[in-house]
Amino acid sequence: MKEECGVVGVVVQNNASTGTPTALQIYYALYALQHRGQESTGITIHDGLHCKSIKGMGLVPEVYVKKDLLELKGNVGIGHVRYSTTGHSKIENCQPLIVNYKSGTIAIAHNGNLANYSLLRDELELEGRIFITSSDTEVIAHLLVKELLRHDPVESISNVIKRLKGSYSLAILIDDQLYALRDPLGFKPLCVGKLDGGFIVASESVAIDTLNGTLIREVSPGELLVFKNDSFESHILVQEKYHAHCVFEYVYFARPDSIINGKLVYNVREKIGRELAREHPVKADSVSPVPDSGITSAIGYSYEANIKYSEGLMKNRYIGRTFILPGQAMRETAVRLKMNTISENIKDQRIVLIDDSIVRGTTSRRIIDMIRRAGAKEIHARIGSPPIIAPCYFGIDMGTRNELIAAHKTVAGVEAVINADSLGYLSIEGLVRAIGIEKENLCLACLTSEYPLDIPGEYCPRRQLKLNEFS
Ligand code: AMP
Repeated sequence: MKEECGVVGVVVQNNASTGTPTALQIYYALYALQHRGQESTGITIHDGLHCKSIKGMGLVPEVYVKKDLLELKGNVGIGHVRYSTTGHSKIENCQPLIVNYKSGTIAIAHNGNLANYSLLRDELELEGRIFITSSDTEVIAHLLVKELLRHDPVESISNVIKRLKGSYSLAILIDDQLYALRDPLGFKPLCVGKLDGGFIVASESVAIDTLNGTLIREVSPGELLVFKNDSFESHILVQEKYHAHCVFEYVYFARPDSIINGKLVYNVREKIGRELAREHPVKADSVSPVPDSGITSAIGYSYEANIKYSEGLMKNRYIGRTFILPGQAMRETAVRLKMNTISENIKDQRIVLIDDSIVRGTTSRRIIDMIRRAGAKEIHARIGSPPIIAPCYFGIDMGTRNELIAAHKTVAGVEAVINADSLGYLSIEGLVRAIGIEKENLCLACLTSEYPLDIPGEYCPRRQLKLNEFS
């Protein structure tokens, strides 16, 4: 299962002066993280005795009603937004996942993907444990409950992570205590902030900004935070020699106003544009982004190449998931519903078209067709990531090698399919320079086919390094 998600945890002090109820604070934070998942969302609050939740399929504003949120009373809670590939889009998989057990209740919000999910699930099912979802988060919940029956929460979590292989940034409630955990390789982001009278953990710092809080720092890879009434404790559970921060967070996934692994995503995307201009210069009249994800890189390209920035496409900001019937005509309408051309900025122009990535190639092809029909003279596609040639096992929905156009076509082949006059991808070195984090600490698996963890059937150069038994 591929999942792209956002997590939040909020705790406010019992006597805090803050007027905003915890559930509403989580709701606002989830709004800020909506780009990380549009399929379902949930909020769980602990009221001192019990956990209560609101969950549903759809966007944050579709699922929550103010009156119901205000009835979720309590000082601590977690929240989640989720996107998964079709087929697993079910309310049962909607998080936070709640498990009641003999000694209490746990609730988990998970961003990431366990590569050893099937193995762990088989093992737990053989022990007689029953699963109600098809989500890997339930494996974490079962492992945690087993440990909690024998150990304290910190020791329990420490034992659980020895079993997990993959990516996980987690907000966890064990009864009314909030915990935040980031996997030892730090695939997915997770940060902690100060609120008026409390704390927040969130996938991205924009959630903290939205609540008018202050970013304290990011949770370190392998670190567990335990929130107390007016402070939090840090436990470094695992320390790896190298990390594996996901580069796709910078390329496409995260909001440009977020700070991830100490880097403002906006700056990284602008540098991506500058690197692209240096690596793939071309004579043109204007630089135009594919909105919204290409905008910042297009600004960088325009500055570096000294070519005018001009928007040739406009995106409908209010588009959610579209109801699409089969057939070419309907597909065209669907594209036009999402995006329209600004003809005056396109007609008779030689355009540098900047997009963040090409995955399957279908979006680029449709957009380039649209721009051609609007009268562009030349279209030079420049892509803010290297060719995506290998699948992601850590939570980014990229599909299989069969579906990835660059996995079985050369750059010239992709150029022909998308019908561009020229095509230039950013190099791996250019991307690493733009991010500004050493290559050893990044996960570049989708671009190199070299995985930071041992995945059956895939190449893992780190296996030879024998970092420690966890890897
Ligand atoms: P395509 O090449 O047709 O698969 O579409 C690629 C475009 O979809 C990129 O330019 C991104 O803007 C967007 N995109 C890339 N990766 C993802 C993803 N994992 N989930 C959703 N959209 C994505």
